[in-house]
Amino acid sequence: MNLSRAFLNFLEILDTGTFAENFKNLIILQKSIILAYNLIMIEKIENAAKFHHLDRLDIIRILATDEFDEFLFKTADSVRKKYKGDSVHIRGIIEFSNICKQNCKYCGIRKDNPNAERYRLSPDEIILFAQHAKEKGFRTIVLQSGEDGFFSAEKMAGIIKKIKSLDMAVTLSLGEKTTGEYEVYKKAGADRYLLRIETTDKTLYGNLHPNMSFENRVRCLKDLKKLGYETGTGILVGLPGQSIESIADDILFFKNIDADMIGLGPFIPAPDTPLSKEKGGTLTQALKVMAITRLLLPDINIPATTAMETLHPQGRLMALQCGANVIMPNVTEGDYRKKYLLYPGKIAVNTSAAQNYDATVKMIESIGRKVSITKGFRRDT
Ligand code: SAH
Repeated sequence: MNLSRAFLNFLEILDTGTFAENFKNLIILQKSIILAYNLIMIEKIENAAKFHHLDRLDIIRILATDEFDEFLFKTADSVRKKYKGDSVHIRGIIEFSNICKQNCKYCGIRKDNPNAERYRLSPDEIILFAQHAKEKGFRTIVLQSGEDGFFSAEKMAGIIKKIKSLDMAVTLSLGEKTTGEYEVYKKAGADRYLLRIETTDKTLYGNLHPNMSFENRVRCLKDLKKLGYETGTGILVGLPGQSIESIADDILFFKNIDADMIGLGPFIPAPDTPLSKEKGGTLTQALKVMAITRLLLPDINIPATTAMETLHPQGRLMALQCGANVIMPNVTEGDYRKKYLLYPGKIAVNTSAAQNYDATVKMIESIGRKVSITKGFRRDT
C-alpha cells in the first residue's frame, strides 16, 4: 500500500471514529510517515555508498537533521575501508610564513590583523625541517603559508627541488597564484596543491574575501587540475550566513571538479578579525559534510583536520572513523608554530615535530589502523 492510499484510509477511519480513536490513529499515522521517510533516507545513504551519487535535496535532508548521523558515519567508514583500506597517510605540514596580502574575514593571519606576530622561515630552515621530518618517517611535506610575495616562484622552485631530492612527495598550499607560477612549481616537482574554495555561495564568498573573486579561485583550481597536480579543495563549515543548501552545492562542486583531496573543518571565530564575535561551526556538521563527501568521492584522500580537534579532544580520531584517511601533523619547529594562528586554540602548538609524529602513530594504532608506507597518492592504495 502506498503512502497516499494509507493516508486516505486513515481519513476514512477519522470520519467514523470517536475523538480518542481519531487522536490515537493520527499519532500512528504520524509515526508511520516518519518511519517510512527514515527508511527511504537510509536506503538513499546505502545507495550512495554503492553508486556514489546523492541528489542535492537528499544532501540537504541529511545535513538538516541528526537522525541519520550514526548510519551516515558508519557507512562512510565502510566506504573508506573498501576504497582506501586501513592505512592512514601521515603528511608533515610546515607553516613557513604567516605574512599574507589577503584579508579573508575569518582568518587570524589576514593582512589587517595588527596583532598577528609575523614571521617567515628562510628557505634553509624550511629544508632543514623537511629533512628532520623525513628522518622521523614522514613521506610527504605540505608547505603552507599566507600569500607572501617574498617567496617568488623561483624561490619556491628551489625549495621544492631540494625537498623532492629527499624522496618525499610535496604538497603546496600557498593560495592563489598565476597559471605561470603553478607551472613553475609543477616543473620543480610539486605533486599536490591544496586550495580550499571555502564556500561556493558566490555572494558569501564575495562578502568574506575583500578584493578577491570566486571566479579566480575556480580558475586556480582548474589550472591545477590541468597541470596534473593532485588537487585538493574544501570548505569552512558553519560560516556566518552559510546555508545548508549552499553546503550541498559545495559537496556537489567537489564531485564536479573531481577533487583528489578534500580538506574541511569547522569555522572557528578568530580574535582580531571581523568575524570574532560570530558563532562558529560545529564538529558534527563538519564530520557530516566529510562523511557525505566520502560517499560521493570514494577513493579520494580526506584528512582529519586540526580544526576538528580544536573543537573536541578526539576530533581527529572521530574523523578517521567516519571517512578520513589522512592526518597532517605539524612539523614546523621552534616558536613559529604558535604564531601561525589561523584561529584560536590550535592544537599541538607546544609539542615538538617528533612528539607529534609519535602521538599521531599512537592515535592511528589505537583504532586498529596502520601507518601507510606509501606516499599516498589518490590512486595508490
Ligand atoms: N593561503 C593559503 C592557506 C590558507 S590557511 C590559501 O589561501 O589556501 C588554510 C586554511 O585555513 C584556509 O583555507 C581556511 O579554510 C582555514 N582557516 C582560516 N581561518 C580559519 C578559521 N578562523 N577557522 C577555521 N579554519 C580557518
